[in-house]
Amino acid sequence: MPDKLSANMLYNFVKCPHRLTLDLFGDYLKQDPISSFVKLLWEKGTDFEKQVIKGLEIPFLDLSFYSGIEKEKRTKEAIDNGVELIYSGRISTGNLIGEPDLLRRDGNGYISGDIKSGSGLEGESDLSEGKPKIHYTVQLALYTDILERLGISAGRNPFIWDIHGREIEYDLNSPQSTRKLESWWNKYKSCLEEVSKIANHDLKTLPAYSGICKLCHWRTYCLKCLRKTNDLTLIPELGRSKRDVMINYLGSVAELAQANLNQFQKGGKTIFPRVGRDTLEKFQKRAILLSKSGSKPYLKGQITLPEADLELFFDIETDPLRDICYLHGFLERRNRDTNTERYVAFFSDQPNEQEEKLAFRQAWEFIQKSMPCVIYYYSPYEKTQWKKLQEKYPDVMSEDDIVKMFNPECAVDLYHDVVKKKTEWPTNDYSIKTLASYLGFHWRDESPSGAESIEWYHRWVETGDENIKKRILKYNEDDCIATRVLLEGIHKLPLLQSY
Ligand code: SF4
Repeated sequence: MPDKLSANMLYNFVKCPHRLTLDLFGDYLKQDPISSFVKLLWEKGTDFEKQVIKGLEIPFLDLSFYSGIEKEKRTKEAIDNGVELIYSGRISTGNLIGEPDLLRRDGNGYISGDIKSGSGLEGESDLSEGKPKIHYTVQLALYTDILERLGISAGRNPFIWDIHGREIEYDLNSPQSTRKLESWWNKYKSCLEEVSKIANHDLKTLPAYSGICKLCHWRTYCLKCLRKTNDLTLIPELGRSKRDVMINYLGSVAELAQANLNQFQKGGKTIFPRVGRDTLEKFQKRAILLSKSGSKPYLKGQITLPEADLELFFDIETDPLRDICYLHGFLERRNRDTNTERYVAFFSDQPNEQEEKLAFRQAWEFIQKSMPCVIYYYSPYEKTQWKKLQEKYPDVMSEDDIVKMFNPECAVDLYHDVVKKKTEWPTNDYSIKTLASYLGFHWRDESPSGAESIEWYHRWVETGDENIKKRILKYNEDDCIATRVLLEGIHKLPLLQSY
Protein backbone atom coordinates (compact mmCIF):
# COMPACT_ATOMS: atom_id res chain seq x y z
CA MET A 1 0.00 0.00 0.00
CA PRO A 2 1.52 3.41 -0.92
CA ASP A 3 2.19 5.67 2.07
CA LYS A 4 1.67 8.89 0.09
CA LEU A 5 -0.77 10.05 -2.59
CA SER A 6 0.96 11.66 -5.56
CA ALA A 7 0.06 13.80 -8.58
CA ASN A 8 0.81 10.86 -10.84
CA MET A 9 -1.79 8.74 -9.01
CA LEU A 10 -4.40 11.45 -9.53
CA TYR A 11 -3.45 11.71 -13.20
CA ASN A 12 -3.90 7.97 -13.68
CA PHE A 13 -7.14 7.97 -11.70
CA VAL A 14 -8.83 10.56 -13.91
CA LYS A 15 -7.69 8.71 -17.03
CA CYS A 16 -9.00 5.37 -15.71
CA PRO A 17 -9.61 4.46 -12.03
CA HIS A 18 -8.80 0.83 -12.76
CA ARG A 19 -5.41 1.78 -14.12
CA LEU A 20 -4.58 3.24 -10.72
CA THR A 21 -5.63 -0.01 -9.03
CA LEU A 22 -3.57 -2.12 -11.41
CA ASP A 23 -0.54 0.15 -11.25
CA LEU A 24 -0.63 -0.05 -7.46
CA PHE A 25 -1.54 -3.68 -6.91
CA GLY A 26 -1.56 -5.46 -10.30
CA ASP A 27 0.80 -8.20 -11.38
CA TYR A 28 3.52 -6.42 -13.37
CA LEU A 29 4.22 -9.59 -15.31
CA LYS A 30 0.81 -9.21 -16.94
CA GLN A 31 1.59 -5.76 -18.36
CA ASP A 32 2.00 -5.23 -22.11
CA PRO A 33 5.21 -3.58 -23.26
CA ILE A 34 4.97 0.21 -23.33
CA SER A 35 4.06 1.25 -26.87
CA SER A 36 6.58 3.20 -28.96
CA PHE A 37 4.10 6.05 -29.21
CA VAL A 38 3.82 6.37 -25.41
CA LYS A 39 7.63 6.31 -25.18
CA LEU A 40 7.73 9.06 -27.79
CA LEU A 41 5.28 11.14 -25.73
CA TRP A 42 7.50 10.79 -22.67
CA GLU A 43 10.58 11.71 -24.67
CA LYS A 44 8.91 14.75 -26.20
CA GLY A 45 7.65 15.86 -22.78
CA THR A 46 11.13 15.68 -21.28
CA ASP A 47 12.75 17.40 -24.28
CA PHE A 48 10.20 20.18 -24.20
CA GLU A 49 10.71 20.77 -20.47
CA LYS A 50 14.49 20.92 -20.96
CA GLN A 51 14.10 23.34 -23.84
CA VAL A 52 11.81 25.65 -21.82
CA ILE A 53 14.15 25.64 -18.84
CA LYS A 54 17.18 26.25 -21.05
CA GLY A 55 15.49 29.27 -22.60
CA LEU A 56 14.44 30.84 -19.29
CA GLU A 57 15.69 34.39 -19.08
CA ILE A 58 14.88 34.85 -15.41
CA PRO A 59 16.94 33.57 -12.48
CA PHE A 60 15.78 30.28 -10.96
CA LEU A 61 17.02 27.54 -8.67
CA ASP A 62 17.43 24.18 -10.40
CA LEU A 63 16.82 21.19 -8.12
CA SER A 64 16.49 18.63 -10.90
CA PHE A 65 19.79 16.98 -9.94
CA TYR A 66 18.38 15.89 -6.58
CA SER A 67 15.82 13.29 -5.69
CA GLY A 68 13.81 12.03 -2.72
CA ILE A 69 14.44 13.44 0.74
CA GLU A 70 17.40 15.54 -0.44
CA LYS A 71 15.25 17.25 -3.10
CA GLU A 72 12.57 17.96 -0.50
CA LYS A 73 15.07 19.32 2.01
CA ARG A 74 16.55 21.71 -0.57
CA THR A 75 13.06 22.81 -1.70
CA LYS A 76 12.19 23.69 1.90
CA GLU A 77 15.42 25.65 2.31
CA ALA A 78 14.73 27.53 -0.93
CA ILE A 79 11.19 28.38 0.19
CA ASP A 80 12.46 29.51 3.61
CA ASN A 81 14.98 31.74 1.81
CA GLY A 82 12.25 33.20 -0.41
CA VAL A 83 13.79 32.03 -3.72
CA GLU A 84 11.74 33.58 -6.55
CA LEU A 85 11.49 30.53 -8.81
CA ILE A 86 12.27 26.90 -7.99
CA TYR A 87 12.50 24.33 -10.77
CA SER A 88 11.87 20.64 -10.02
CA GLY A 89 11.25 20.82 -6.29
CA ARG A 90 9.48 18.38 -4.00
CA ILE A 91 6.89 19.21 -1.35
CA SER A 92 4.95 16.98 1.00
CA THR A 93 2.74 16.99 4.03
CA GLY A 94 0.73 14.26 5.76
CA ASN A 95 -0.10 11.64 3.13
CA LEU A 96 0.36 13.97 0.12
CA ILE A 97 3.47 14.37 -1.98
CA GLY A 98 4.08 16.43 -5.11
CA GLU A 99 6.90 17.35 -7.45
CA PRO A 100 5.72 20.47 -9.29
CA ASP A 101 7.91 21.55 -12.20
CA LEU A 102 7.81 25.10 -10.87
CA LEU A 103 7.23 26.88 -7.57
CA ARG A 104 6.99 30.63 -7.98
CA ARG A 105 6.99 33.14 -5.16
CA ASP A 106 3.98 35.39 -5.08
CA GLY A 107 3.92 37.89 -2.21
CA ASN A 108 4.54 35.91 0.96
CA GLY A 109 3.59 32.58 -0.53
CA TYR A 110 4.08 30.28 -3.51
CA ILE A 111 2.04 29.07 -6.43
CA SER A 112 2.86 25.95 -8.41
CA GLY A 113 3.14 25.36 -12.12
CA ASP A 114 3.78 22.55 -14.58
CA ILE A 115 5.44 22.58 -17.99
CA LYS A 116 3.39 20.60 -20.51
CA SER A 117 4.27 19.65 -24.06
CA GLY A 118 0.58 19.85 -25.04
CA SER A 119 -1.91 22.66 -25.21
CA GLY A 120 -2.79 24.13 -21.79
CA LEU A 121 -6.50 24.10 -22.63
CA GLU A 122 -8.88 21.73 -24.34
CA GLY A 123 -11.72 22.48 -26.72
CA GLU A 124 -10.30 25.76 -28.02
CA SER A 125 -11.99 26.88 -31.22
CA ASP A 126 -13.50 29.89 -32.94
CA LEU A 127 -16.52 29.48 -30.72
CA SER A 128 -14.86 28.59 -27.44
CA GLU A 129 -11.95 29.83 -25.37
CA GLY A 130 -11.31 26.27 -24.19
CA LYS A 131 -11.22 24.99 -20.64
CA PRO A 132 -8.69 23.48 -18.22
CA LYS A 133 -7.76 19.85 -18.73
CA ILE A 134 -8.91 17.67 -15.86
CA HIS A 135 -5.67 15.65 -15.76
CA TYR A 136 -3.58 18.83 -15.50
CA THR A 137 -6.00 20.34 -12.95
CA VAL A 138 -5.87 17.52 -10.42
CA GLN A 139 -2.09 17.57 -10.40
CA LEU A 140 -1.90 21.35 -9.91
CA ALA A 141 -4.61 21.15 -7.24
CA LEU A 142 -2.61 18.57 -5.30
CA TYR A 143 0.46 20.86 -5.24
CA THR A 144 -1.78 23.77 -4.18
CA ASP A 145 -3.34 21.62 -1.45
CA ILE A 146 0.11 20.77 -0.08
CA LEU A 147 1.16 24.45 -0.16
CA GLU A 148 -2.05 25.38 1.69
CA ARG A 149 -1.52 22.72 4.34
CA LEU A 150 2.06 23.94 4.77
CA GLY A 151 0.71 27.49 5.18
CA ILE A 152 2.69 28.86 2.23
CA SER A 153 0.10 29.02 -0.54
CA ALA A 154 -0.34 32.31 -2.39
CA GLY A 155 -3.73 31.25 -3.77
CA ARG A 156 -5.62 28.65 -5.75
CA ASN A 157 -4.41 29.88 -9.11
CA PRO A 158 -1.58 27.60 -10.29
CA PHE A 159 -0.45 27.69 -13.91
CA ILE A 160 0.64 25.70 -16.96
CA TRP A 161 3.40 26.74 -19.33
CA ASP A 162 2.22 25.09 -22.52
CA ILE A 163 3.54 24.08 -25.95
CA HIS A 164 2.39 27.38 -27.45
CA GLY A 165 4.61 29.35 -25.06
CA ARG A 166 1.64 30.54 -23.03
CA GLU A 167 1.14 30.76 -19.30
CA ILE A 168 -2.38 29.53 -18.58
CA GLU A 169 -3.81 30.25 -15.15
CA TYR A 170 -5.92 27.46 -13.67
CA ASP A 171 -8.45 29.10 -11.35
CA LEU A 172 -9.29 26.21 -9.04
CA ASN A 173 -12.19 28.02 -7.38
CA SER A 174 -14.02 28.50 -10.68
CA PRO A 175 -16.80 26.18 -11.88
CA GLN A 176 -15.77 23.44 -14.31
CA SER A 177 -18.09 24.83 -17.00
CA THR A 178 -21.36 26.69 -17.42
CA ARG A 179 -23.14 23.36 -17.09
CA LYS A 180 -20.98 21.80 -14.38
CA LEU A 181 -21.10 24.29 -11.55
CA GLU A 182 -19.03 22.24 -9.13
CA SER A 183 -15.67 24.01 -8.71
CA TRP A 184 -12.43 22.45 -9.91
CA TRP A 185 -11.28 22.45 -6.30
CA ASN A 186 -14.24 20.33 -5.17
CA LYS A 187 -13.71 18.04 -8.14
CA TYR A 188 -10.10 17.58 -7.05
CA LYS A 189 -11.21 16.87 -3.47
CA SER A 190 -13.60 14.12 -4.59
CA CYS A 191 -10.92 12.59 -6.85
CA LEU A 192 -8.44 12.66 -3.98
CA GLU A 193 -10.91 10.92 -1.71
CA GLU A 194 -11.43 8.14 -4.24
CA VAL A 195 -7.70 7.81 -4.90
CA SER A 196 -7.21 7.48 -1.16
CA LYS A 197 -9.88 4.77 -0.96
CA ILE A 198 -8.32 2.84 -3.86
CA ALA A 199 -4.90 3.07 -2.25
CA ASN A 200 -6.36 1.78 1.05
CA HIS A 201 -8.26 -1.07 -0.64
CA ASP A 202 -11.55 0.56 0.35
CA LEU A 203 -12.75 1.01 -3.21
CA LYS A 204 -12.87 -1.71 -5.82
CA THR A 205 -12.59 -0.65 -9.45
CA LEU A 206 -13.47 -2.45 -12.66
CA PRO A 207 -11.96 -2.25 -16.11
CA ALA A 208 -14.05 -0.57 -18.81
CA TYR A 209 -13.55 -1.07 -22.55
CA SER A 210 -12.79 2.30 -24.15
CA GLY A 211 -10.60 4.11 -26.65
CA ILE A 212 -7.94 4.92 -24.05
CA CYS A 213 -7.26 1.20 -23.48
CA LYS A 214 -5.44 1.15 -26.84
CA LEU A 215 -2.43 2.95 -25.38
CA CYS A 216 -2.58 1.41 -21.91
CA HIS A 217 -0.04 -1.19 -20.77
CA TRP A 218 -2.85 -3.26 -19.14
CA ARG A 219 -4.91 -3.61 -22.33
CA THR A 220 -4.40 -7.36 -22.94
CA TYR A 221 -5.01 -8.21 -19.30
CA CYS A 222 -8.10 -5.97 -19.02
CA LEU A 223 -9.60 -7.23 -22.26
CA LYS A 224 -9.26 -10.78 -20.96
CA CYS A 225 -11.04 -9.82 -17.72
CA LEU A 226 -13.76 -7.93 -19.61
CA ARG A 227 -14.41 -10.91 -21.87
CA LYS A 228 -14.47 -13.29 -18.91
CA THR A 229 -17.14 -11.25 -17.11
CA ASN A 230 -18.86 -10.34 -20.39
CA ASP A 231 -18.79 -6.76 -19.17
CA LEU A 232 -21.43 -4.30 -20.37
CA THR A 233 -18.76 -1.92 -21.69
CA LEU A 234 -18.15 -4.43 -24.48
CA ILE A 235 -21.32 -2.97 -26.00
CA PRO A 236 -20.44 -0.10 -28.37
CA GLU A 237 -21.02 3.34 -26.83
CA LEU A 238 -21.85 1.91 -23.40
CA GLY A 239 -19.03 3.38 -21.33
CA ARG A 240 -17.92 3.22 -17.72
CA SER A 241 -20.42 5.74 -16.28
CA LYS A 242 -23.44 4.05 -17.89
CA ARG A 243 -22.16 0.60 -16.91
CA ASP A 244 -21.69 1.73 -13.31
CA VAL A 245 -25.31 2.85 -12.93
CA MET A 246 -26.63 -0.39 -14.46
CA ILE A 247 -24.32 -3.01 -13.04
CA ASN A 248 -26.31 -3.82 -9.89
CA TYR A 249 -29.26 -4.79 -12.06
CA LEU A 250 -27.56 -5.99 -15.23
CA GLY A 251 -24.26 -7.72 -14.59
CA SER A 252 -23.31 -8.72 -18.11
CA VAL A 253 -24.03 -8.41 -21.82
CA ALA A 254 -25.94 -11.70 -21.69
CA GLU A 255 -28.14 -10.48 -18.83
CA LEU A 256 -29.02 -7.31 -20.72
CA ALA A 257 -29.76 -9.36 -23.84
CA GLN A 258 -32.32 -11.46 -21.94
CA ALA A 259 -33.81 -8.80 -19.67
CA ASN A 260 -37.38 -7.57 -19.69
CA LEU A 261 -36.74 -3.84 -19.90
CA ASN A 262 -40.14 -2.91 -18.45
CA GLN A 263 -38.86 -3.75 -14.98
CA PHE A 264 -36.45 -0.80 -15.23
CA GLN A 265 -39.15 1.67 -16.25
CA LYS A 266 -40.22 4.35 -13.78
CA GLY A 267 -42.79 6.73 -15.25
CA GLY A 268 -41.45 8.14 -18.49
CA LYS A 269 -37.85 7.30 -17.53
CA THR A 270 -35.71 4.32 -16.66
CA ILE A 271 -34.29 3.83 -13.17
CA PHE A 272 -30.80 4.37 -14.60
CA PRO A 273 -29.70 8.03 -14.44
CA ARG A 274 -28.85 9.46 -17.87
CA VAL A 275 -29.98 6.31 -19.69
CA GLY A 276 -33.33 6.83 -21.46
CA ARG A 277 -35.65 4.04 -22.64
CA ASP A 278 -34.56 4.44 -26.29
CA THR A 279 -30.91 4.19 -25.33
CA LEU A 280 -31.57 1.13 -23.17
CA GLU A 281 -33.41 -0.55 -26.05
CA LYS A 282 -30.55 0.29 -28.41
CA PHE A 283 -28.05 -1.26 -26.00
CA GLN A 284 -30.24 -4.35 -25.63
CA LYS A 285 -30.31 -4.85 -29.40
CA ARG A 286 -26.51 -4.62 -29.42
CA ALA A 287 -26.33 -7.04 -26.48
CA ILE A 288 -28.46 -9.53 -28.41
CA LEU A 289 -26.19 -9.19 -31.45
CA LEU A 290 -23.13 -9.84 -29.31
CA SER A 291 -24.70 -12.74 -27.44
CA LYS A 292 -26.17 -14.78 -30.29
CA SER A 293 -23.68 -16.95 -32.13
CA GLY A 294 -23.64 -16.34 -35.87
CA SER A 295 -25.09 -12.83 -35.52
CA LYS A 296 -24.72 -10.69 -38.60
CA PRO A 297 -24.60 -6.91 -38.99
CA TYR A 298 -27.61 -5.16 -40.45
CA LEU A 299 -29.03 -1.84 -41.58
CA LYS A 300 -31.59 -0.27 -39.29
CA GLY A 301 -32.73 2.25 -41.89
CA GLN A 302 -32.52 2.93 -45.59
CA ILE A 303 -29.35 4.65 -46.73
CA THR A 304 -29.04 6.86 -49.75
CA LEU A 305 -25.52 7.70 -50.77
CA PRO A 306 -24.46 10.17 -53.47
CA GLU A 307 -23.72 8.70 -56.89
CA ALA A 308 -20.69 9.47 -59.07
CA ASP A 309 -18.45 7.49 -61.44
CA LEU A 310 -15.41 8.55 -59.48
CA GLU A 311 -15.03 7.81 -55.77
CA LEU A 312 -12.22 8.99 -53.48
CA PHE A 313 -11.58 7.19 -50.19
CA PHE A 314 -9.76 9.76 -48.14
CA ASP A 315 -7.64 9.52 -45.00
CA ILE A 316 -5.18 11.93 -43.43
CA GLU A 317 -2.32 11.44 -40.97
CA THR A 318 -1.41 14.12 -38.46
CA ASP A 319 1.29 14.61 -35.87
CA PRO A 320 -0.37 16.20 -32.83
CA LEU A 321 3.00 16.63 -31.12
CA ARG A 322 4.11 19.00 -33.87
CA ASP A 323 0.58 20.14 -34.69
CA ILE A 324 1.04 19.27 -38.35
CA CYS A 325 -0.95 17.39 -40.99
CA TYR A 326 1.70 15.48 -42.89
CA LEU A 327 -0.20 13.16 -45.22
CA HIS A 328 -3.34 13.28 -47.36
CA GLY A 329 -4.03 9.86 -48.88
CA PHE A 330 -6.68 8.98 -51.48
CA LEU A 331 -7.78 5.71 -52.96
CA GLU A 332 -9.35 6.54 -56.32
CA ARG A 333 -11.89 4.16 -57.87
CA ARG A 334 -13.85 4.45 -61.12
CA ASN A 335 -17.26 2.93 -61.84
CA ARG A 336 -17.10 0.88 -58.65
CA ASP A 337 -14.48 -1.31 -60.30
CA THR A 338 -11.68 -2.29 -57.91
CA ASN A 339 -9.39 -2.98 -60.91
CA THR A 340 -9.29 0.75 -61.58
CA GLU A 341 -8.09 1.59 -58.10
CA ARG A 342 -5.00 3.68 -57.57
CA TYR A 343 -3.55 5.24 -54.43
CA VAL A 344 -2.50 8.89 -54.54
CA ALA A 345 -0.70 10.51 -51.61
CA PHE A 346 0.58 13.98 -50.74
CA PHE A 347 3.27 13.81 -48.10
CA SER A 348 5.21 16.45 -46.14
CA ASP A 349 8.80 15.23 -46.04
CA GLN A 350 9.63 17.79 -43.40
CA PRO A 351 7.43 18.84 -40.49
CA ASN A 352 7.34 22.51 -41.38
CA GLU A 353 4.63 24.89 -42.56
CA GLN A 354 6.07 25.20 -46.06
CA GLU A 355 5.83 21.44 -46.67
CA GLU A 356 2.50 21.13 -44.88
CA LYS A 357 1.06 23.86 -47.08
CA LEU A 358 2.46 22.30 -50.25
CA ALA A 359 0.92 18.89 -49.48
CA PHE A 360 -2.38 20.58 -48.61
CA ARG A 361 -2.35 22.58 -51.86
CA GLN A 362 -1.56 19.48 -53.94
CA ALA A 363 -4.31 17.49 -52.23
CA TRP A 364 -6.84 20.24 -52.88
CA GLU A 365 -5.77 20.51 -56.55
CA PHE A 366 -6.16 16.74 -56.85
CA ILE A 367 -9.70 16.88 -55.44
CA GLN A 368 -10.64 19.75 -57.75
CA LYS A 369 -9.37 17.84 -60.79
CA SER A 370 -11.31 14.76 -59.63
CA MET A 371 -14.65 16.55 -59.38
CA PRO A 372 -17.41 15.50 -59.90
CA CYS A 373 -16.73 12.71 -57.42
CA VAL A 374 -17.86 11.32 -54.07
CA ILE A 375 -15.44 11.59 -51.18
CA TYR A 376 -15.68 9.01 -48.40
CA TYR A 377 -13.86 9.45 -45.08
CA TYR A 378 -14.25 7.90 -41.64
CA SER A 379 -14.91 10.22 -38.64
CA PRO A 380 -15.27 14.02 -38.51
CA TYR A 381 -11.50 14.31 -38.05
CA GLU A 382 -10.71 14.86 -41.75
CA LYS A 383 -13.19 17.71 -41.99
CA THR A 384 -11.98 19.32 -38.74
CA GLN A 385 -8.36 19.14 -39.86
CA TRP A 386 -9.11 20.52 -43.32
CA LYS A 387 -11.02 23.44 -41.77
CA LYS A 388 -8.00 24.10 -39.58
CA LEU A 389 -5.68 23.96 -42.61
CA GLN A 390 -7.97 26.31 -44.55
CA GLU A 391 -7.79 28.86 -41.71
CA LYS A 392 -4.01 28.49 -41.59
CA TYR A 393 -3.54 28.73 -45.38
CA PRO A 394 -6.49 30.76 -46.73
CA ASP A 395 -4.66 31.36 -50.02
CA VAL A 396 -4.84 27.60 -50.78
CA MET A 397 -8.61 27.32 -50.46
CA SER A 398 -11.46 29.49 -49.22
CA GLU A 399 -14.11 28.86 -46.58
CA ASP A 400 -16.61 28.41 -49.43
CA ASP A 401 -14.38 25.73 -50.92
CA ILE A 402 -14.52 23.83 -47.62
CA VAL A 403 -18.31 24.03 -47.59
CA LYS A 404 -18.42 22.78 -51.20
CA MET A 405 -15.95 19.97 -50.60
CA PHE A 406 -17.77 18.62 -47.54
CA ASN A 407 -21.25 19.14 -48.96
CA PRO A 408 -23.24 15.98 -48.09
CA GLU A 409 -24.18 15.71 -51.77
CA CYS A 410 -20.61 14.75 -52.58
CA ALA A 411 -18.90 13.88 -49.27
CA VAL A 412 -19.83 11.19 -46.76
CA ASP A 413 -18.52 10.68 -43.27
CA LEU A 414 -19.08 6.92 -43.26
CA TYR A 415 -18.68 6.71 -39.49
CA HIS A 416 -20.89 9.56 -38.38
CA ASP A 417 -23.52 9.56 -41.12
CA VAL A 418 -23.83 5.88 -41.89
CA VAL A 419 -22.28 3.43 -39.39
CA LYS A 420 -23.40 5.23 -36.23
CA LYS A 421 -26.87 6.21 -37.45
CA LYS A 422 -27.89 3.40 -39.74
CA THR A 423 -26.11 0.16 -38.89
CA GLU A 424 -25.58 -2.39 -36.11
CA TRP A 425 -22.59 -4.74 -35.86
CA PRO A 426 -21.74 -7.70 -33.59
CA THR A 427 -18.51 -5.97 -32.55
CA ASN A 428 -17.30 -4.16 -29.43
CA ASP A 429 -16.67 -0.83 -31.16
CA TYR A 430 -17.10 0.88 -34.51
CA SER A 431 -13.52 1.80 -35.31
CA ILE A 432 -12.48 1.35 -38.94
CA LYS A 433 -9.95 -1.26 -37.77
CA THR A 434 -12.62 -3.30 -36.04
CA LEU A 435 -15.26 -3.12 -38.77
CA ALA A 436 -12.97 -3.64 -41.78
CA SER A 437 -11.26 -6.52 -39.95
CA TYR A 438 -14.71 -8.00 -39.24
CA LEU A 439 -15.33 -7.86 -42.99
CA GLY A 440 -12.13 -9.82 -43.61
CA PHE A 441 -9.71 -7.00 -44.45
CA HIS A 442 -6.11 -7.31 -43.21
CA TRP A 443 -3.69 -4.42 -42.83
CA ARG A 444 -0.31 -5.33 -44.29
CA ASP A 445 1.51 -3.81 -41.31
CA GLU A 446 1.97 -6.04 -38.28
CA SER A 447 1.02 -3.27 -35.80
CA PRO A 448 -1.24 -0.86 -37.63
CA SER A 449 -2.38 2.11 -35.57
CA GLY A 450 -2.65 5.85 -35.96
CA ALA A 451 -0.57 6.37 -32.80
CA GLU A 452 2.24 4.11 -34.07
CA SER A 453 2.27 5.91 -37.42
CA ILE A 454 3.03 9.17 -35.57
CA GLU A 455 6.06 7.48 -34.06
CA TRP A 456 7.11 6.26 -37.54
CA TYR A 457 6.83 9.82 -38.85
CA HIS A 458 9.12 11.06 -36.10
CA ARG A 459 11.68 8.43 -37.02
CA TRP A 460 11.34 9.29 -40.73
CA VAL A 461 12.04 12.96 -39.97
CA GLU A 462 15.04 12.05 -37.81
CA THR A 463 16.58 9.42 -40.09
CA GLY A 464 15.25 10.03 -43.61
CA ASP A 465 14.98 6.22 -43.91
CA GLU A 466 12.89 5.55 -47.06
CA ASN A 467 11.64 2.25 -45.62
CA ILE A 468 9.90 4.13 -42.82
CA LYS A 469 8.24 6.48 -45.32
CA LYS A 470 7.07 3.47 -47.35
CA ARG A 471 5.64 1.93 -44.18
CA ILE A 472 3.65 5.11 -43.43
CA LEU A 473 2.30 5.29 -46.98
CA LYS A 474 1.39 1.61 -47.03
CA TYR A 475 -0.43 1.99 -43.72
CA ASN A 476 -2.34 5.03 -44.99
CA GLU A 477 -3.18 3.26 -48.25
CA ASP A 478 -4.58 0.34 -46.24
CA ASP A 479 -6.71 2.74 -44.20
CA CYS A 480 -8.14 4.11 -47.47
CA ILE A 481 -8.76 0.59 -48.81
CA ALA A 482 -10.41 -0.35 -45.49
CA THR A 483 -12.84 2.55 -45.97
CA ARG A 484 -13.75 1.19 -49.41
CA VAL A 485 -14.12 -2.35 -48.01
CA LEU A 486 -16.44 -0.98 -45.34
CA LEU A 487 -18.55 0.90 -47.90
CA GLU A 488 -18.95 -2.29 -49.93
CA GLY A 489 -19.79 -4.23 -46.77
CA ILE A 490 -22.46 -1.67 -45.86
CA HIS A 491 -23.99 -1.92 -49.36
CA LYS A 492 -24.45 -5.65 -48.79
CA LEU A 493 -26.10 -5.39 -45.33
CA PRO A 494 -29.71 -6.53 -45.10
CA LEU A 495 -32.30 -4.04 -43.91
CA LEU A 496 -33.92 -5.16 -40.70
CA GLN A 497 -37.52 -4.03 -41.19
CA SER A 498 -38.56 -4.50 -37.57
CA TYR A 499 -35.94 -2.16 -36.12
S1 SF4 B 1 -6.70 -1.22 -20.27
FE1 SF4 B 1 -8.40 0.23 -20.16
S2 SF4 B 1 -9.61 -0.46 -18.43
FE2 SF4 B 1 -7.63 -1.43 -18.24
S3 SF4 B 1 -6.47 -0.12 -16.92
FE3 SF4 B 1 -6.01 0.46 -19.00
S4 SF4 B 1 -7.40 2.11 -19.50
FE4 SF4 B 1 -8.19 1.07 -17.68
